[in-house]
Amino acid sequence: MPKFFTTSKANMSFIQKQNLYAEYKSAVEQGLVPGPLSSFSEFISIPNFDVMVDMKCLSCHFALKVNFAIYAEYMKLENSPFPLDTCPQCGKLHFVPLDVYNKLMI
Ligand SMILES: [Zn+2]
Repeated sequence: MPKFFTTSKANMSFIQKQNLYAEYKSAVEQGLVPGPLSSFSEFISIPNFDVMVDMKCLSCHFALKVNFAIYAEYMKLENSPFPLDTCPQCGKLHFVPLDVYNKLMI
C-alpha cells in the first residue's frame, strides 16, 4: 500500500469498469503503461482495481477522485513514491494526491 497518501475503496458499476478498461487500453497503446495489454477480465481482477485516490492540483486547486490502478502501474514504471498527473482543469503537470498537496501547501 502507498505510504505518502491514503486511498479508498470504490463500488464500481459495470459501465464504470468498462470506461476504466478503455482508459487503461489507450494508456497501454500510447506506451504510458507497460504492456502486454490485459483482457477485460484480467484487468478487473488486478490489485488496486477498485482503489480510488483523491487528487488535487497544486496550481488551480481542482480536485477529483481518480482510480488508482493506472497510477499504480505508472508509479512502478517511474519508480515514483506518488502519482503525478496532468490536471484535467488547467492542463499543468501539477495533479498530485490530496495528502501530498496538503504537505506541499503548508
Ligand atoms: Zn490545475
